[in-house]
Amino acid sequence: MDKLKIAIQKSGRLYEDSIKLLKDCSIEINIGIDKLKTTALNFPLEILFLRDDDIPQYLEDGVADIGIVGKNVLLEKRKKINIKESLGFGKCRLSIAVPKSLIYKNINDLNGKKIATSYPFLVKKFFRKKCIKSDIHEISGAVEIAPGIGLADCICDLVSSGSTLFMNGLKEVETILKSEAVLAANINLTFSKKIIMNKLLFRIRSVKQAKNNKYILLNAPNKQLQSIISSLPGIKNPVILPLSNSKFSSVHSVINENDFWKIIENLKSLGAKDILVIPIEKIIL
Ligand code: ATP
Ligand code: ZN
Repeated sequence: MDKLKIAIQKSGRLYEDSIKLLKDCSIEINIGIDKLKTTALNFPLEILFLRDDDIPQYLEDGVADIGIVGKNVLLEKRKKINIKESLGFGKCRLSIAVPKSLIYKNINDLNGKKIATSYPFLVKKFFRKKCIKSDIHEISGAVEIAPGIGLADCICDLVSSGSTLFMNGLKEVETILKSEAVLAANINLTFSKKIIMNKLLFRIRSVKQAKNNKYILLNAPNKQLQSIISSLPGIKNPVILPLSNSKFSSVHSVINENDFWKIIENLKSLGAKDILVIPIEKIIL
């Protein structure tokens, strides 16, 4: 049987979450000592461990069929590949940062400044759109030290908490891209590989749905049953079961993580009791 080849980062910020995603999709893998590639035990998948920067090229060339990589890398490399799904991890932003001491009012303050970055294409595009003259210096790592050693006036780099910038005496002033890990694919997959990829995507979407939702069980006073049901926006038809106490019913539903506390407060104010909230492993819709 044909196997789908997935490229993931060999080590670094995306490695753990990429492996966890496969595990959450019930794909079993044994990672050998050399960690160059491995085969899944219960799914037609071969896993290639690569540097993240190389993944777009391998996907374009068909060396790998699909891959997990930051959107930032994909957009910078501009290869002919398809983005199939955002994965909700590896979240960061590509931002411009300047020395803390610089008084920054607006983007015009960047005019003519020397800017160090590993993302020359995205930075150039951003400045062109804003009609700002830029002097871009491409460097491949440790971008944040560039202003301190006199290599550039400011930088454009990936930021998540901002602590690295802070430690290097910099402040974030403009965000040029919001990024997260995505699943990307070669554009000419064979029919049988597409079938495997769609099976994997189906599992990934079920895992993602489950992560954003919680299963909720509660006891509702029958007098308030309709108001309680209408305050539960989750799954279309909640389960309603009678209880031995005929004044109450048991209500089961699914609620979204983002609205969680607002919904719980509302339910309590409507008289809901004994509310249980349970994590969900997968949601198949
Ligand atoms: P490699 O050795 O594979 O080339 P790397 O050092 O280039 O690794 P990492 O620092 O591990 O890459 O980052 C991989 C990806 O993680 C980034 O391209 C980005 O999509 C994401 N990421 C999330 N948060 C951050 C952050 N704060 N800084 C850098 N990358 C981040
Ligand atoms: Zn890299």
